[in-house]
Amino acid sequence: MAFTALKKFFSGSTPIVLLVLSLLASLYLLSEATHNSELFSKIFSLMLVINGLAIFLLIGLIIRNLAELIRQYRQRTIGSRLTARLVLLFVILSVTPVSVVYYFSLDFLQRGIDSWFDVRVDNALQDALELSQTSLGVRMRELLQETKKLALQLNDIPNDLAAIKLNDLRSLAGASEMTLFSLHGRIIASSNPEATNLLPLSLDNTTQLQVRQGKDEVGLIPLLDTGLHIRIAVLVAGPDAVTEHRILQALFAVPDRINTLANNVQAAFGNYREIAFLRTPLKYSFILSLSLVLLLSLLTSIWAAFFYARRLVAPITDLVEGTRAVAAGNYEKRLPLPSRDELGFLVKSFNEMTHRIAIATESARQSQQQVEEQNAYLEVVLAHLSSGVLTLDTEYTLHTSNTTASQILGIPLLEFNGRLLDTIASDHPHLQLLVDALYPHLKSGQHEWQDEVILFGPAGRQVLMCRGTQLPHTVTLPGGHVVVFDDITAVLQAQRNAAWGEVARRLAHEIKNPLTPIQLCAERLRHKYLHTMTGKDAEVLDRSTHTIVQQVETLKEMVKAFSDYARMPSVQMQSLVLNEIIQEVLDLYRNESIGFQLVVDLDPTNPLIEADPGRLRQLLHNLIKNAQEAVVQNGEGRITVISRCMQEETCRFVELRVEDNGPGFPDDVFSQLFEPYITTKPKGSGLGLAIVKKIVEEHGGVVWAENRLQGGAVIIIRLPVLGQRRQKDIHTGLAKNTQPVDNIPHDTA
Ligand code: ADP
Repeated sequence: MAFTALKKFFSGSTPIVLLVLSLLASLYLLSEATHNSELFSKIFSLMLVINGLAIFLLIGLIIRNLAELIRQYRQRTIGSRLTARLVLLFVILSVTPVSVVYYFSLDFLQRGIDSWFDVRVDNALQDALELSQTSLGVRMRELLQETKKLALQLNDIPNDLAAIKLNDLRSLAGASEMTLFSLHGRIIASSNPEATNLLPLSLDNTTQLQVRQGKDEVGLIPLLDTGLHIRIAVLVAGPDAVTEHRILQALFAVPDRINTLANNVQAAFGNYREIAFLRTPLKYSFILSLSLVLLLSLLTSIWAAFFYARRLVAPITDLVEGTRAVAAGNYEKRLPLPSRDELGFLVKSFNEMTHRIAIATESARQSQQQVEEQNAYLEVVLAHLSSGVLTLDTEYTLHTSNTTASQILGIPLLEFNGRLLDTIASDHPHLQLLVDALYPHLKSGQHEWQDEVILFGPAGRQVLMCRGTQLPHTVTLPGGHVVVFDDITAVLQAQRNAAWGEVARRLAHEIKNPLTPIQLCAERLRHKYLHTMTGKDAEVLDRSTHTIVQQVETLKEMVKAFSDYARMPSVQMQSLVLNEIIQEVLDLYRNESIGFQLVVDLDPTNPLIEADPGRLRQLLHNLIKNAQEAVVQNGEGRITVISRCMQEETCRFVELRVEDNGPGFPDDVFSQLFEPYITTKPKGSGLGLAIVKKIVEEHGGVVWAENRLQGGAVIIIRLPVLGQRRQKDIHTGLAKNTQPVDNIPHDTA
């Protein structure tokens, strides 16, 4: 508590005021003392103590300030460098003049004091003293002669008459007192102008003795009430031989003016002697006082330099701190106003500036918040859309995408934000088809477009319905494209199933149903009329009814095949290993004398797939039947069945290849191989590959045909592995699930 108060006291301007006061007091005392050596000697020790204390205090303060400044300088505290510079400048500015003044003052002091004791002054004073003494001596000698003359007039006067004569003589001489003594000092007669003064000045023994010996006495004697007097004592002869000699004492008043002047000269000379005696100690005392005062003022100015430098730098330090706060984003900082000068104006402007920035920042923050809220709202809307949405800039860089888009495509699209569309395809090859389909539309400059794209990805075969729109290019909007797509695989499947269901129903109803009555009618005709006819009629009837029955049978088979193809899907999915189904089916062919070589190459690591085993068997039969028909002409027919587990980036699937070394697919039907009723065979239905395609699609796979380079045809089928198909179901079922696709572990069973 006491320490805090002390610290507050020393950090304020109180010490400096006290020091300045002590300095002024010292200066005053010094100036007073120079007039009065007595006072000087008295106050010298007091001055020494006061100044010593002040110097001690100042040195302490300066050391403390200096240590503080050095510490701040080393720590690179804000404002310490400027303070140091200002202090240095102030110190130089104060030390230089003070040193110059000190040097010359010292010189003046020494010369001044020496000049006081100049030989001429000494002589002048002595001369003045002598002059006063000489003038008094002349007067005294005159009075002696006069007194001697008067004494002669008393020679004849007897003692008893002496009083009257004495009175006359005193009046004549203008003496203030005249007394006649016997040789032994007895008063014979006395004359005094004042009647009250009855007792004359007695004659001392020394004077009696001196006068008796014939020596006149002349001297100065101070009287108590009447001042300095000249006393003259001379011998007076007796009137006769009997009467002894007498002594006449005359007192003459010294004129006041002479008295005063003589006294002054005497006193001045006395003082001068005294000071001359103290000359050296006085000189050193003065020098010491001057040094103390100057040291005190020097230290005070150094301390003031610290004090005011700090005060001057304080608002600048505040400004630096304020600027830093603003740089760090704190616009609420207000600086204290230091004064009404330019610095104060600067600080005021700074405060206004930060206030305005704070307001601007707040409004910017609010608008940013609004934009963020709108963005969040838009994101929520996009996330809840059942369609995938992509936005691209004019350079075909992915800008935004919604969760559904990631789910449909099976990749975390967020990772591709800001990357070119091409990079998506290079990282995920199964999307190459999509990218290839999008580019022509994006580059065509069409305002709106629509296209159907078929992909085979981790989740199997996917049909995407893509719609695109060009974004307007304005000052605020950079333009670009928005692509919206839906996974219509299931919808298409359902539509196709419904259409083929309708075909099957109509076939059954419109064609198959009348066929049996036609067949029965033909048989009845034949049965009833054949035996009644003979010759050519019987032959015509026989042949006609036979043809009708045979053709109806063919029609029935055809209708059944259509009906098989078109019937509603009733797949019984289960987890199975494709290799086992392949082996089962191929075993049937091995048992026969097939007339071709069967090569089997099955990957033992094939994972489980989810499929209908019956449908898969049908698919394999169709393919092997086609291959068999293709190689039957070839003497060294060879059919190869291959299964592989493949991994293309994130896409994992089982691939089935059925190759043969036949003539390959005819060019004219190549593009329509999988369409129903496309055949090059005389008795072919053209439904074999159409059914294969349908089964593959039911299993979420893709199928395509190729002609091999070395000759022969190959049908390639890709079916999704179990885990990934389930994964797709999870995605479709939980559209709101935002977990990245990559985080779901693949089922390796
Ligand atoms: P179909 O066998 O009844 O003709 P498909 O749909 O099975 O009907 O076959 C359609 C056509 O594809 C065939 O007519 C044939 O021309 C061609 N084709 C199918 N498989 C092969 C094959 N392995 N080699 C050559 N051509 C084939």
